[in-house]
Amino acid sequence: MKKRNAYIVGSGIGGMALSVLLASKGFATTVLEKNHLLGGRCTSYEKIHDGEKFIVDMWTHTFPTAERAFNKVFKLINSDFEIKFYHFTEENPPQIWQHGRDPTNIPTSLDIFYKELEKMQQARSKKTTSKKPNPLSKSNIPKIISDIFSLSKKKLKELDEITFEQWLQGLTDNKLIINWLGIVCAFMFVTMAYDTNDRRGSAAGETIRSLRNWFQRITSGYPYGGSVGIVNGYKHALESMDGTVEINTKVDKILVDDGKVVGIEVDGNTHDTNLVISNAGVKETVLDLVGEKYFPKSYVKQIKQLEVSEGAHTWAFYSMKFGLDKKLIKPPIIFPMRRMDDSNNIRSMRELIEEYMVKDRIPPSSGMYVTVPSNMDPSLAPPGKQLVNIGCIGPVESKDYQKWYDFYIGILETWVPDFRKHVLFMDVHRTGKPLQQWTGRFQGDAVGISQSVGQVRDKRPLPNTPIKGLYLVGADVGIQGIGTELSALSALHSFKVIQKDITL
Ligand SMILES: Cc1cc2nc3c(=O)[nH]c(=O)nc-3n(C[C@H](O)[C@H](O)[C@H](O)COP(=O)(O)OP(=O)(O)OC[C@H]3O[C@@H](n4cnc5c(N)ncnc54)[C@H](O)[C@@H]3O)c2cc1C
Repeated sequence: MKKRNAYIVGSGIGGMALSVLLASKGFATTVLEKNHLLGGRCTSYEKIHDGEKFIVDMWTHTFPTAERAFNKVFKLINSDFEIKFYHFTEENPPQIWQHGRDPTNIPTSLDIFYKELEKMQQARSKKTTSKKPNPLSKSNIPKIISDIFSLSKKKLKELDEITFEQWLQGLTDNKLIINWLGIVCAFMFVTMAYDTNDRRGSAAGETIRSLRNWFQRITSGYPYGGSVGIVNGYKHALESMDGTVEINTKVDKILVDDGKVVGIEVDGNTHDTNLVISNAGVKETVLDLVGEKYFPKSYVKQIKQLEVSEGAHTWAFYSMKFGLDKKLIKPPIIFPMRRMDDSNNIRSMRELIEEYMVKDRIPPSSGMYVTVPSNMDPSLAPPGKQLVNIGCIGPVESKDYQKWYDFYIGILETWVPDFRKHVLFMDVHRTGKPLQQWTGRFQGDAVGISQSVGQVRDKRPLPNTPIKGLYLVGADVGIQGIGTELSALSALHSFKVIQKDITL
């Protein structure tokens, strides 16, 4: 019997995860990807330097909940395939670096996490006798932490109506704490914790859910084979079920007739199908690949109003990759902590972003994160060499990008002297225009439709569309989770919806 076909537009995490699910139900599944690499915003490429091979991650670096979400796809279909992750070890944990202090180990298990909390509490009770002002006093941290772990589902739903910053402001007036937790929120969702002039900040309820989910298990890790290891895992599974992936293949149009999908157009050729799932973005699919005239006006209006995450708006994410001639850094991940503002008055993140990122002005200092992929998977760099990545923020457009790169390398050198003397190569990938060209989205945003007030849970765009046979997958339509996790879980949701519509 001839298999029914399904085309997936785009090989991001969402598209690839869904391809496995559809193939498992007997669909002749084809993924079409316009780029020469699979994975969209979660990919890696080969870099040959002096005849030696490095595998460099392009955008993603950290996977807060490790393989959990990715392998749910295989579990659902009882498949033996598995995406394998490196997990942080107690002997060599991620660290926080602060000036003038010994590095702080980040707990790698819940037991260690609770022990560290106890130590913090004991240290705090001893410090109350000290005369020195404590910048964290009156911070209400214990209440904030206990609320994050204990607020009811009902309360979290209510908190989806306010921003994370508004929630924090109700618990503390310590600006440093509001800024730090706001940065954690931006790290997870790439959406600010606060409203800007033209867009809403992260929903407090959703931010707390994700923080809870992340910290309740503490199983962070990194995919073997680099970021692209995740989609490579899905590709192997897909191919084992006779599915195919075609790279360098851009879908120009999704063809619709009489309210139904009838095919796709690639390079002037038409492929007949009545099932297309797009991973290319909600707006891009509706307004460009199909065309708004095929949709009800109210649907188009709703889609146009959706806001995307940061990366192309008030600041950009700069991902600086270095190949080093020796192993300079020991931990797998480091968070070098520096306040952007060195004045005595602590200014809000909003003010700092407007003052420095929007105006393309170098701040007095800045934090960043540093990942060392080859410490987690040694096969990513030649023996004796190291791969290092700095993740940091800068202006969306700058008159002088190099001054920003030098600024961040300078900060790292305060901990790792002579870092630049060991650099074999540096590649930089920025959100904004370069990312926009890579994904083909309308803008170079980092995550997708933002998890902001008015756009979470049952207010996310749905995987099904008013057109029969046309579905969506990817972070844009994901309901829960952080970045790539949001995309992988979206595949499970889209699959459920497709299953309901079509007897699979
Ligand atoms: C700089 C940066 C850092 C990040 N860091 C992290 C991190 O550390 N951890 C984390 O979990 N998440 C991170 N994210 C977020 C995460 O990468 C994304 O949320 C996720 O990968 C999006 O997946 P997706 O399924 O929505 O598809 P996308 O990644 O958006 O992929 C869509 C694919 O569709 C293809 N496509 C589009 N149009 C067409 C067409 N017409 N024809 C054929 N193909 C088409 C595109 O080329 C692309 O490959 C980061 C993102 C960025 C940009």
